[in-house]
Amino acid sequence: MEKKRLGKTELMVSVVGMGGIPIQRYDEKATLDTLIACKEAGINFIDSARAYSVSEEYIGKGLQQLGRDSFYLATKSLNRTKEGFYNDILTSLKNFQTDVIDLYQIHNLGKQEDFDKIFSEDGAYEAALQAQREGKIKHIGVSAHIKEMAMQLIETEKFSTLQFPFNAVENQGTELFIRAHELDMGVIAMKPLGGGILGEVADSAMKYIVQNDLVTVAIPGMNTPEQVMQNTAAAKKGPLTEEEKAELKKISEEIGKDFCRRCGYCQPCTVGIDIPGVMVFEGYIKRYGLSDWAKGRYETSAVKASECINCGVCKQRCPYGLNIPERITWVDNYFNQM
Ligand code: SF4
Ligand code: SF4
Repeated sequence: MEKKRLGKTELMVSVVGMGGIPIQRYDEKATLDTLIACKEAGINFIDSARAYSVSEEYIGKGLQQLGRDSFYLATKSLNRTKEGFYNDILTSLKNFQTDVIDLYQIHNLGKQEDFDKIFSEDGAYEAALQAQREGKIKHIGVSAHIKEMAMQLIETEKFSTLQFPFNAVENQGTELFIRAHELDMGVIAMKPLGGGILGEVADSAMKYIVQNDLVTVAIPGMNTPEQVMQNTAAAKKGPLTEEEKAELKKISEEIGKDFCRRCGYCQPCTVGIDIPGVMVFEGYIKRYGLSDWAKGRYETSAVKASECINCGVCKQRCPYGLNIPERITWVDNYFNQM
């Protein structure tokens, strides 16, 4: 598989990497099978996070069998304090069963107060520098979902990589990526399949990303060998055909920008609603005409959206600013009126 230089880290990474979010929904065996498929397909970059529950741990166990040197390891922490972030680095090292992590990122920085916090004397960035001096991590990166904040982070010139959502329906990262390249930062495209919403045009969506010179590595979430094969095969195919371009344009117009990426950052819900699980029904109702089937699935939910107490906690957490209580209530009302 084609490899690109990940900016000033000088790591040569495969244009498709493995996103570690979905691992947490599966088991060690599925993780190992996926890692084996990644290695065979030429993937050499894995991205995980402390926030992805067992993801780091399962990957670490898999690497015991495959060899630590098979992959460059990237992970990230949501902790904003020096002590908390440093402890998270130690936990990640333990989980991955390794002495050094290639890229450690400050995860999902969105608020100005968090920006100020991480760069304070007692902030996460100090911990990252300390761990780097101690040889526990090699490079420091950052991930963000909000364009203005991402640009602010780039301009600090303190990071070697930027991780930002980018796909055929969400290409507002272009301006960021141009600036990141000027500063020799590596660019990691998260959500290349729009959190699953581009699943029906996955081939075209992967081609769209890997052929973009501004993207160093795209990291679709993967937890089966089949997904690895599909994503890497698409990446090896030639340029987008006119037909594929038209297909992506059509779907982009249908979806707009205001959709749930199923990232799970809004969780846990105060009353136990599976928020991404309910949000996904919007698409089934509005775009796919699958209301009957979706209603059947919704009825098996442990906690219905009607239980929402409108506490607003989830809204604060959603990096895309979605009005979750309003939207899940709409889904609930829709099914009740069917
Ligand atoms: S607003 Fe509703 S959905 Fe969101 S956390 Fe509160 S109870 Fe859960
Ligand atoms: S509602 Fe927002 S935070 Fe929750 S899964 Fe969807 S995009 Fe992510």
